[in-house]
Amino acid sequence: MSTASINSWCLTSLSPAQSSIKRAALRPSIVASLNSSPSPPNLIRNQPVLAAPAPVINPSWREDMAKQSYEEAVEALKKLLIEKEELKPVAAAKVEEIRAQLSTPSGTKPADDLTERMKDGFIFFKREKYAKNPALYGELAKGQSPKYMVFACSDSRVCPSHVLDFQPGEAFVVRNVANIVPPFDQTKYAGVGSAVEYAVLHLKVSTIVVIGHSACGGIKGLMSFPLDGNNSTDFIEEWVKLGLPAKKKVLSDYGDLDFGAQCTYCEKEAVNVSLGNLLTYPFVRDGLVKKTLSLKGGYYDFVKGSFELWGLDFGLSPSLSV
Ligand SMILES: [Zn+2]
Repeated sequence: MSTASINSWCLTSLSPAQSSIKRAALRPSIVASLNSSPSPPNLIRNQPVLAAPAPVINPSWREDMAKQSYEEAVEALKKLLIEKEELKPVAAAKVEEIRAQLSTPSGTKPADDLTERMKDGFIFFKREKYAKNPALYGELAKGQSPKYMVFACSDSRVCPSHVLDFQPGEAFVVRNVANIVPPFDQTKYAGVGSAVEYAVLHLKVSTIVVIGHSACGGIKGLMSFPLDGNNSTDFIEEWVKLGLPAKKKVLSDYGDLDFGAQCTYCEKEAVNVSLGNLLTYPFVRDGLVKKTLSLKGGYYDFVKGSFELWGLDFGLSPSLSV
């Protein structure tokens, strides 16, 4: 396998004007086939997380506790100040308190502000997305039927739903360090294995995409660590060494390049190693033979603002078209 693109496409330097690419429409028949099986496994709690015992999770806010932004609260207090002269000292003190909170410099936020950030984020999501798309969220309440399974890195800069504009219900996502798919192993890799099994056999996704990215810390580790058995980390070396075949190929083919360039090649070659590992899952092989499933590699370069996608021909099916 090589990183040579087969039936590939590449988007480079998307301008804001170009980014209005037509959004993929969700199919109306969004009910997972699992829902119609006689005894579906119950994977979803029937209690909200906030119903957990207090010592486990002690919610400090609820969506209905704070529907106003700080700015709105200040305006409301000013109005109250004008209407109720006797409340003037109390309201003025509250206004100052709110203003002090607003003036906290970003980057030095106390822990409570990080909670506030999540609260504000959820309120924004609920008001601007959830409440405005009742048809979509109504369908998703019944079940999911994503067409994609996506492997992406845990890196905070490469969220696939953000980069590829996946809408809720479109992509079943696994994220880990260096977006690695380990080989089939029921003991060592049950976490990833269960996700692949669920996606392929129950959700019946059509495509599995493994997406690498620029400046990947996990791949830099793979290329840097001696990986000689004397591990200096509890988990990281053991995990990234799954990409050793990619490292060896890059060192063999591009040994004369500088370290940064080698890492870039390895970021792509490791994707191909993961695509190869997917073939060790019997139900993936079965899907490829029956042509109900395709595998693709992707690479997101957030420095250049580009995205590449390629399919690999494993000899099990005709060339993949993208
Ligand atoms: Zn990464």
